[in-house]
Order: sequence, then structure tokens, then C-alpha cells
Amino acid sequence: MPSEFELIDRYFNRPTAHTTLGVGDDGAIIRPSPGMELVISTDMLVVGTHFLSDADPEALGWKTLAVNVSDMAAMGAQPRWALLAAALPAATESWIEKFSRGFFCCADVFGIDVIGGDTTKGPRNFCVTILGEVPPGSALLRSGAQPGDQIWVSGRPGRAALGLAHMQGRTVLHEPVLGECLAALHRPQPRVTLGLSLRGIANATIDVSDGLLADLGHILKSSGVAAKLAINMSPEPSLDRECYLAGGDDYELLFTSPPSRHADVAALSASLSLALTCIGNVEAGEAGQIDLRDADGQPIEIGHSGYDHFG
Ligand code: ADP
Ligand code: MG
Repeated sequence: MPSEFELIDRYFNRPTAHTTLGVGDDGAIIRPSPGMELVISTDMLVVGTHFLSDADPEALGWKTLAVNVSDMAAMGAQPRWALLAAALPAATESWIEKFSRGFFCCADVFGIDVIGGDTTKGPRNFCVTILGEVPPGSALLRSGAQPGDQIWVSGRPGRAALGLAHMQGRTVLHEPVLGECLAALHRPQPRVTLGLSLRGIANATIDVSDGLLADLGHILKSSGVAAKLAINMSPEPSLDRECYLAGGDDYELLFTSPPSRHADVAALSASLSLALTCIGNVEAGEAGQIDLRDADGQPIEIGHSGYDHFG
């Protein structure tokens, strides 16, 4: 059995690219780029709540960092540093090696230095703290939506929830949709380039982690506004529609921007080869209220709007 320190050294200590002092001391030392603001966020993944005990360790490693990177994307920040606090039931090296591979694969893709953390024995639990940089005053917030803004979403929300439904036997998917849905569930792609490009374009931004309606609700409440959505879907309840509106775990970006920026958003979609769909408008009204319609203007009723750990 490797000791705690051997484990850290073998699996969580990698060379850093832009860090003064990384793993190995009682604290790390970072040097933010001159004049930049730091954006800091933390997110935890707990066995039984966020992943199953038999989850693929490499995919889990990727996702553990990716969901944190997504928070940086939603803030319009360039992700730079991360710390990993890990509780592990045992020092099973094959499992930890795969987890570490997925985790550092994500770190490499997004240019993130892993600068420290904590390792302890316990039910599997991973808590990442991530730091990113933005020019002063240019971070994207939830609170800036204005009446008249268009509401946009990237990619195709609902894929992750559909993949989960397939895995749990609640639906049967077929290729190529099956592959797309499982990839969305296991290997979410945080929209960092989109987030950086939305600085100066978006008035409010959030990443879709709780479900499209729930996360839109967060923007609307923070901004003190309402919204009218026109969803190009049948008004008949279906798993696909429910996943789209209330699925969560997608890590797409949901944002609002003035109609005068419509062409800029369309150009971004083309240059990033990423679908950006306008799904409605912000309106003056009761904060958080969402008027949901299908493509023909008929009202859509939806039972629950997203994931709430204590709801
Ligand atoms: P301390 O004795 O101060 O609690 P630790 O023994 O927990 O320090 O950790 C030793 C070093 O390894 C520290 O620099 C810490 O940041 C780093 N570290 C511990 N666990 C991890 C991990 N899972 N991933 C990355 N770095 C880690
Ligand atoms: Mg110490």
C-alpha cells in the first residue's frame, strides 16, 4: 500500500506552467497576471449524489474538474489554477491512476495548473477549488439581464439527462444520439472559449447545471426581471422535452444579450462551430416569472424545473 504522500506524489503532482510554488508545501504561491481580477469558485462531487460508486474513474476525474471549469466559463474567466480535496475509501492505485488521468487530461485541455489539495480516507468525495482571471470589471454575472434582451443557450441541453435516463433503463436511445448523450453525461465540455468571447456581449450568464428553466430562473431573480420563452418542441409532455427544460448537468452556457448584439452572437456560433439558439426574451415583470410557450405560441406546463438538493 502506498502512503498518502506517495499517492499524492505519484498521482496528483504534475509540473506546473504558470505557478510560483505548486504541490508539496503547506501552501501554493501564485502570481496573477498584472492588473487582473481573480475569480474563485468551488464545487463538490459526492458519491451517491453526483456519481455512482461504480462510475468509470477516468470519466469521473474529467468531470470533477470540468464542472468547476464550467463555473469559470460562466463568469467569463480564464481558468488558471485548481486545488483538489479528495476523500478516498482506499488507496486502490488502479482506480486513482485512472481518476488522475481524467482529471489531468481536463487540466491540460484548459491550461490549468493543479497547485495543491488534500487527501484523506472516507466515502468518495471530490472538492475542487478553481481560480481564474478576468480584466477588472469584465466578469459575466447573473444579475445584468435587461428587459428586451434575447435569451440564448449553447449546444443542446438535455443530452446528459437523457444519457442518464438510458443508463437507468428509463428510456432506450440509439446511435448516434446515444453516443452524444453519454458523452454529455460523462465528459461535459465546459464552454470556456464561449465564456471569454461573451465578455462585452452578454448582460447575464450562467452555466446550465440545475436545468435550463431553473438556471434561467436564477438569472431572472438576480436581475429582477421575467422572461418569455418560445421552445421549438411539441407541447406534449415527453422525456426529451422534460430533459431539455429541467435536465441539468449539461454545463452549457445560458446568457442574455441585447438584440443589437444578435449578429455578434450568430458570428460567434459560426466561429466556434457551436450551436447558439435564441430561445426567448427578457421582459419587465415579476422577478423569476417564466412564460413558457411552444413554437405555435401555446403555453407549456412543466412539473418541476430542475434539481434542488434539498427541494
Ligand atoms: P498538510 O500537511 O499541510 O496538510 P498535506 O500532507 O495534506 O499537507 O499535503 C501535502 C502537499 O500535497 C500539499 O502541498 C497539498 O496541497 C498537496 N496535496 C495533497 N493532496 C492533494 C491532491 N489530492 N491533489 C493535489 N495536491 C494535493
Ligand atoms: Mg500544512
